[in-house]
Amino acid sequence: MESGSLVDEHLITEVVRDGLQRLTGTGFLLLGHPRTVSLAFALDDLLRELDAPLDGVVHLRLPDSEVERRIDRLAARRRCRNDRTHRFEPEVDHLDVEGVCHCGGELYQREDETETRYRNMFLSYEAMLEPLTRHYAEQGLLVTVDAAGTFDEISSRALAALQKHSL
Ligand SMILES: [Zn+2]
Repeated sequence: MESGSLVDEHLITEVVRDGLQRLTGTGFLLLGHPRTVSLAFALDDLLRELDAPLDGVVHLRLPDSEVERRIDRLAARRRCRNDRTHRFEPEVDHLDVEGVCHCGGELYQREDETETRYRNMFLSYEAMLEPLTRHYAEQGLLVTVDAAGTFDEISSRALAALQKHSL
């Protein structure tokens, strides 16, 4: 998150506070929150105040090989110059003529869909997460889970890891 978002961060924390205060003795799962270290510190304070400590923090992490596979797949996408809704993905779509859409339009790669661009997106995401995972690792709360596979596979893997961690 960029600077100048302290008001936003305060608002986010208040929304979380409101949600947690409505809970009546049940557990809770915060999805995708916190996203910054300052939000994590605010959450630490809030959970101390509410006497609702975390059992664990699940970090869904893609193996490097899977990251590479996804970058390759995304960077292989091509768009049609005739119709921007025509997209071609080599893994799933078949072309009769190389480089030509089924409508006859020329296929091209958008400037913001290159391998370098996607690689930078993954790297900056990792860089954004690093201080957060460190924050929770230092508290002994971090549970890293392999995020490759189907939704069901990842969910049960995450649940099992969290249960094991909470024992
Ligand atoms: Zn087309």
